[in-house]
Amino acid sequence: MRITEQAGPRWGPRRKMLLVLAPALLSQYMLDVLAVGPGVWTFVVRLVWALSVALSALRMDEHSPPSMRLHTAFQSTAGSLCFIALVLVTGGGDSVYFHLFPCLPLVLCLLYPQDSLSVALSGALCAAGAAGLLWGAGRPLSQALLWAGMVVTLTLVGAYGASEFRKAQRAENEGRLERARREALETLAISEHRRAHSEKLATIGQLAAGVMHEINNPVAFIGANLDFLEREVLSEQLASREELAEVFRETRIGVERVRQIIGDLKGFSRMDAEEPTECALADVVSDAVRIARLRLQHVARLAVDIPEDLPPVLAVRRRLAQVLLNLLVNAGDALEARGRAGSEVRIIGGCEGSRVVLRVEDNGPGFPPHVLPRLFETFFTTKGPEKGTGLGLALSRELVEQSGGTLVAENRAEGGARLRLEFPVGGSVKAAS
Ligand code: ADP
Repeated sequence: MRITEQAGPRWGPRRKMLLVLAPALLSQYMLDVLAVGPGVWTFVVRLVWALSVALSALRMDEHSPPSMRLHTAFQSTAGSLCFIALVLVTGGGDSVYFHLFPCLPLVLCLLYPQDSLSVALSGALCAAGAAGLLWGAGRPLSQALLWAGMVVTLTLVGAYGASEFRKAQRAENEGRLERARREALETLAISEHRRAHSEKLATIGQLAAGVMHEINNPVAFIGANLDFLEREVLSEQLASREELAEVFRETRIGVERVRQIIGDLKGFSRMDAEEPTECALADVVSDAVRIARLRLQHVARLAVDIPEDLPPVLAVRRRLAQVLLNLLVNAGDALEARGRAGSEVRIIGGCEGSRVVLRVEDNGPGFPPHVLPRLFETFFTTKGPEKGTGLGLALSRELVEQSGGTLVAENRAEGGARLRLEFPVGGSVKAAS
């Protein structure tokens, strides 16, 4: 199918109006006949006027502002000259149409409120025409000047009204644009919020196996302890108090562990909009590591090296923890096939000049050359649809940039992947939402 490009409808409202106006102007010759009787020159003036309007309508390009300005100026000049000629051929200073002189610029103000040049041209021509006709007819100069002054005054009043109309129209347009902009920003913020949330849930989904294992362990020994307590309660000979106290203590530790895991996950998946605060990277790392261990403990050894005197960064703690968790879960996925022995993930903090740097490294396969340039694209994933969303790194970069930082990926010379986060010391935040 061939698609032809069109700038808009061929006959816009302006051209349609002029094409109706042209025959209307000509048909008004009937009024001339009634008012002043038939006359060849009157008909000729009407015809020229109607043709000038029709010609302008046929040649104007409604999508080009310069063409519109030119045609409006042409119409107002031609229209004013034709009107002066009409007055002249129907009686000059005594014509029935003479009193309409001040009306012509006003009509133009209504038709083209945005075009002050046309109104000014028409006002000047009509003022000169009225004064010239009166003076030519031998009327006193004062009368000619009075009429010229009246036409000019009414033109100025009309032009003022048109400029007020333009201002109101501009204010309304600006208001409409501002409302549309605000609505678009709100929609964007909501969808960003939802995207961040679904990525969090996807990360939790990726952790599911680790979570189940981690919860199963304490639940298994809580069950075994309850069996033991039941047997003891039913048996003749009760175990020693110390032994029972130990069983209760173990059971409570198990319950506490389950509660802690659920609390961590719940805290992580919350959607509060938080303000950035000064965060110690050691705290952020430990938030992320507590959850990431669920995934990594069966896959790799996790080493954390954050100097105690590392300066804080200005960020939303929970978001930064989300970023680190994404990176750690990705490292876990990359190392999964390799087996735990020898697999390692390291988080290393440091200061380079006025930047705080955090590196998350693994000794997995690293990034293949065709993957590296696309890593931060939204929805880019090499994992199956049931495992990857392709949002993790894109979102992580966004969150880091909101804290005035950067996130880049590279391959380590010794093999494996490195994600490098950099923040200004004390942070400069671009966006807090
Ligand atoms: P997802 O994890 O859902 O695929 P991400 O945006 O987090 O989405 O990651 C995009 C891709 O980057 C992953 O599919 C993977 O191919 C690659 N990747 C991310 N981290 C690592 C890593 N540590 N080692 C190797 N490849 C990685």
